[in-house]
Amino acid sequence: MPVDLHLHSTCSDGTDSPETVVALAAAQGLTAIALTDHDTLAGIDDAAAAASSAGIGFIAGVELSLQWDLGGMHLLVYHLGQAPGPLQDRLAGLQDGRSGRNQLIVERLVALGWPITSDEVVEESGGGVVGRPHIAAVLVRMGAADSISDAFDRWLAQGRPAYVSRPRLTPAEAIILARRSGAVPVLAHPHTIGVSADEYRTAFRNLAELGLAGIEAYYSEYPEELRLHLADIATGLGLIATGGSDYHGTYKPGLSVGTGHGDLRVPDEVVDAIGAVARPEELRQ
Ligand code: AMP
Ligand code: ZN
Ligand code: FE
Ligand code: FE
Repeated sequence: MPVDLHLHSTCSDGTDSPETVVALAAAQGLTAIALTDHDTLAGIDDAAAAASSAGIGFIAGVELSLQWDLGGMHLLVYHLGQAPGPLQDRLAGLQDGRSGRNQLIVERLVALGWPITSDEVVEESGGGVVGRPHIAAVLVRMGAADSISDAFDRWLAQGRPAYVSRPRLTPAEAIILARRSGAVPVLAHPHTIGVSADEYRTAFRNLAELGLAGIEAYYSEYPEELRLHLADIATGLGLIATGGSDYHGTYKPGLSVGTGHGDLRVPDEVVDAIGAVARPEELRQ
């Protein structure tokens, strides 16, 4: 039975609560999920309780954006406990970095003639970690863009007029902190890192030397051949081929929990493979 190890909730930039995300997973017949909100573990307790009631497996996760000049490198970190730890202790700082960045984006948009306020953005976020999709949603409402993705294309994406970066961990910092926390670092959606397909193997090997444990091969946006190709490279390097939909509710229209655009199927063996790499709390340094 399939699983989905890349899901966002209202605790970051998804539009469904953790409980609703679990209910959608259960309705799809998934046997396990991971909640992977950006920079926060706030949804983990509610999602774990809901998953337990629904009788499906649950992995606590988080997604981090890393400092990487060639493109967007995101890291999924699985089995990250909520107790203080080397990586857990950095999450609050990453959230603070977002607040300053978001304020600067708002100021740029005002200067560009779109009278958006931080209060509106925070209200759109519903109180969780605020991300650019929330700003995008406000821009759509005020007529500055036709859709969330149009708001990124016009204003918010890297290189566009209201883009502002934020403090991020480097790949080495994040991977090492994740491992020291007993957790399992996996490279998310590798197409965004900005290397050509024939450089994937080298890029993954360099990250594996830092302690990377897996590659997100089974991703919604990929044709089946690319999923299998990435899985093949991953296993050839001794890495786990993981996968997930990157479901965000209405902020990423057209995606469903479990099935992505309809053709995604993440094999459940991945769950045990990830679990075998996680180190229980008592064994951590
Ligand atoms: P942030 O972490 O606040 O910088 O926002 C990053 C999030 O914005 C990503 O995780 C995606 O959910 C979303 N995102 C990034 N680029 C785009 C895009 N071009 N279209 C739609 N959503 C995007
Ligand atoms: Zn997101
Ligand atoms: Fe991502
Ligand atoms: Fe994501």
